[in-house]
Amino acid sequence: MQLQLQDSKAPPAPPDLQRRFDELLDHLPAGVTVHDIHGRIVMANLQAARMLDRSEQELIGTRPTSEEWHLLNENLSLLADEDYPVSQALRTGKKVTGMILGIPSVNASTPCWTICNAYPEFDEDGTLQGAVACFSDCTQLKDAQQRLEKSEERLRLILHGSTDALWDWDLVSGETYYSERWWDMLGYSPGEFPIGSQGWRDLIHPADRDDVTAFLAELLAGPRHTYTLEFRLRHRQGHDVPVLVRGIVLRDASGRAIRLSGTNTDLTERKQAERRIYELAYFDPLTGLPNRRFLIEELDKTLARATRSGQYGALLFIDLDNFKLLNDTMGHDVGDMLLRQVAHRLRQALRDSDQLARLGGDEFVVVLESLGATPAETTPHADHVARKILSLLGQPYDLPGNPSARTPSIGIALFDGSDSSIDALLRQADLAMYRAKADGRNTARFFDPSMQAAAERQAALDKALRDGLARREFVLFCQPQFDTGGRLIGAEALARWEHCEHGLVGPGEFISQAENTGLIVPLGRQVLEESCRALARWAHDPTLGRLKLSVNVSVRQLRDPDFPLTVAGLLAATGASADKLCLELTESVFSENMQEPIKRMEQLRAQGIAFSLDDFGNGHSSLAYLTRFPLAALKINRSFVRDAGDNSATIVQAIVALARKLGLDVVAEGVEQEDQRDFMVGCGCNVLQGYLLGRPVPMPEFERLYGSAGHA
Ligand code: C2E
Ligand code: CA
Repeated sequence: MQLQLQDSKAPPAPPDLQRRFDELLDHLPAGVTVHDIHGRIVMANLQAARMLDRSEQELIGTRPTSEEWHLLNENLSLLADEDYPVSQALRTGKKVTGMILGIPSVNASTPCWTICNAYPEFDEDGTLQGAVACFSDCTQLKDAQQRLEKSEERLRLILHGSTDALWDWDLVSGETYYSERWWDMLGYSPGEFPIGSQGWRDLIHPADRDDVTAFLAELLAGPRHTYTLEFRLRHRQGHDVPVLVRGIVLRDASGRAIRLSGTNTDLTERKQAERRIYELAYFDPLTGLPNRRFLIEELDKTLARATRSGQYGALLFIDLDNFKLLNDTMGHDVGDMLLRQVAHRLRQALRDSDQLARLGGDEFVVVLESLGATPAETTPHADHVARKILSLLGQPYDLPGNPSARTPSIGIALFDGSDSSIDALLRQADLAMYRAKADGRNTARFFDPSMQAAAERQAALDKALRDGLARREFVLFCQPQFDTGGRLIGAEALARWEHCEHGLVGPGEFISQAENTGLIVPLGRQVLEESCRALARWAHDPTLGRLKLSVNVSVRQLRDPDFPLTVAGLLAATGASADKLCLELTESVFSENMQEPIKRMEQLRAQGIAFSLDDFGNGHSSLAYLTRFPLAALKINRSFVRDAGDNSATIVQAIVALARKLGLDVVAEGVEQEDQRDFMVGCGCNVLQGYLLGRPVPMPEFERLYGSAGHA
């Protein structure tokens, strides 16, 4: 490139000066182009050729137009002809500085960015001669600027979206910065009051202030670079905002802290959620009382305290009597209301130091500590509290419908921490509670070891029953029933257990246990199935074919809504005739919700099955049953037969008269002696059953004895 050092009229510059100048131009890290009055390039240095990607020869004569150069604005739009810096300088006669322009690159996806100056050239007369453009590569600068802008934008977005409040504190100058979010978190508008480097301390909760001050003093003096800290700040509206600080300490070369920066995270929601989780995990939402988990964790501490102090305490297991019935008949809303009122009363009955929890359902637990140094000293105190609870919970409740009195049963277990495990303690109180229920409810019982032994026996029996059922060890005995003329008219099926070790076991040993555990349902089904098979066999025998077979059915079987279907299924499968089947129910069926058993009985009745009421006169008797249930017969309780002749005569006569009026047969069972038979017949009973007339015998023997073949 040859650029004259002086204008053409002046004498030429000395050749070595001109050469040095040319070299300088070629080594200049900026592109330089000289343009004539028409904008045409008359001269370009090496760097210009490199940046514009053309040889010096190719450049000479070209004009600064978009068609020629395709230069770009900063926003990547094509630079218009008139905006080319040289064009501007030539048009306006003024210099253009600091214009950022992009030169499209054939090889790279992004343009090469340049910072460009152009200035006009005038001759001595001030006539415009041309223009010089000078442009240097600023791509890296431009990239850095873009990155910075992006990163600032990102930071802005993060700060905007974040719940964290940013702050910065220059410990040397005392200068501080609190982000918008910081002010917002405390209910202020940004910069609402001068806060400086110390003002925030006034907002700290008084109880946290000393701790925070001490922490900061230690932090600044020590070597740490990061820290976290929790404390409470006061919100403008007066409440506390729990905050988590995550901070950074900047130190100079000597280790002196010169700047603190960090974020404050508002923990309000998190704390609330934690509280909620805690409440859900440890409290019963219905009554607000601690739940089982809370109780178990507390009991751990209670037992440890008892061990240390050597003092006895008591655990009271409280269960509401017949709560399930109330729930089923009055609805769950009423059940819930009752539970809330019970919880309220229990809370009032106890001292603050006593523990109270709801285990679930209608079960509550009270734990009393430090009642005495010995069981003898402890028992009266526990008994006193139990009585107080019995009396309080026995008062009428505010419930819709019929607010009949409710009562609890309470089991009490003492503990001194030395040998009690939580599980064992709860089990003991639970066993005692069951004893209270068995003893007539609305009472309290203390645990004693015999209960444990009984429970273990029951568990063993339960297992044996299950095994027996699986092995079909239950068989049927059959006892004949006669009319007053001595004619065989029916039989009662009675279960026996042919135990693999103990031999034949009577129902007295297993029926009530099976009732308690629910095993009576599968057991009863097996009995019914065998009975139906017998009836189907009997149908082929002229004598047996006339007999009705009575089968005992438990309340729990009748509670199953599918019971009528089960019976129908068994009849169909065996081919037995429904009108030869009679189901014996005890009066306990009717102590529950009346509607359901009546419905099921009607369904069975419709299949042709008859019902008789077993053990009549024994307990729940209400004459009203007799009219409401679809019965065919009454079986008078054995005790009336046994006491025949005494006062019971009047009662039996009255029962028989009533039954007859209702069209029911009256069966006298347990007839052992002639005078008993005569008496019952005299009273009007028309069916007789008892050892006098025939004992229960195994089914095959019954069929042999009473079947036509046997008679023959
Ligand atoms: P229950 O229904 O009152 O049965 C009559 C019981 O009286 C039978 O006792 C029978 O052997 C006995 N018995 C009959 N005649 C006389 C007599 O003249 N004198 C005396 N002292 N007793 C007599 P068992 O077979 O021991 O049955 C006892 C109870 O077990 C039955 O009383 C019944 O409630 C129940 N049970 C028996 N089998 C079943 C069954 O399959 N299902 C259900 N749910 N309960 C059954
Ligand atoms: Ca019976």
